[in-house]
Amino acid sequence: MGARPRRTQIEADAKRFEELKADLARIGYFSKGTLQARMVKCGKSKCPCGVDPKRRHGPYFEWTYKAQGKTISVRLTARTAPLFQAASTQYRKLKSTLARLEKLSRQAITRLAEQADSDSPQ
Ligand SMILES: [Zn+2]
Repeated sequence: MGARPRRTQIEADAKRFEELKADLARIGYFSKGTLQARMVKCGKSKCPCGVDPKRRHGPYFEWTYKAQGKTISVRLTARTAPLFQAASTQYRKLKSTLARLEKLSRQAITRLAEQADSDSPQ
C-alpha cells in the first residue's frame, strides 16, 4: 500500500471516474419498483382453479412502486412486463453506479487535497 506515487493514483481516479460516467450515460429508462407475477383463482364454482393450484389463471403481472408516499400498483400484460423488469434493473444499476461514483469522488478529492497541501504547505 502507498507504493504508487500520488500523482499516478490521481490519474487513475480520473480515468475510473470517466469510465463510471460513461456507464451512467448508457443507462436506459429506469424506475424504482417491483414486478410480481401471480397466479389467481377466478372464483367460479365449476372452475378447477379453485381446487388445483396448478390450474390457477395467469400469470398476472403487477408493477408496484411508491410515489409521494403512496403505493401504486399497475396491472401489466405478459407482453409489457419485461419493459418494467428492465426499468427496475436499470434503476438498480443507476443506484450502484452512483454509489461507486460518490465513493470514488470522496477518495479523489481527498488525494487532490493532500496533493494541494504538499505542493504549497501552509
Ligand atoms: Zn378459474
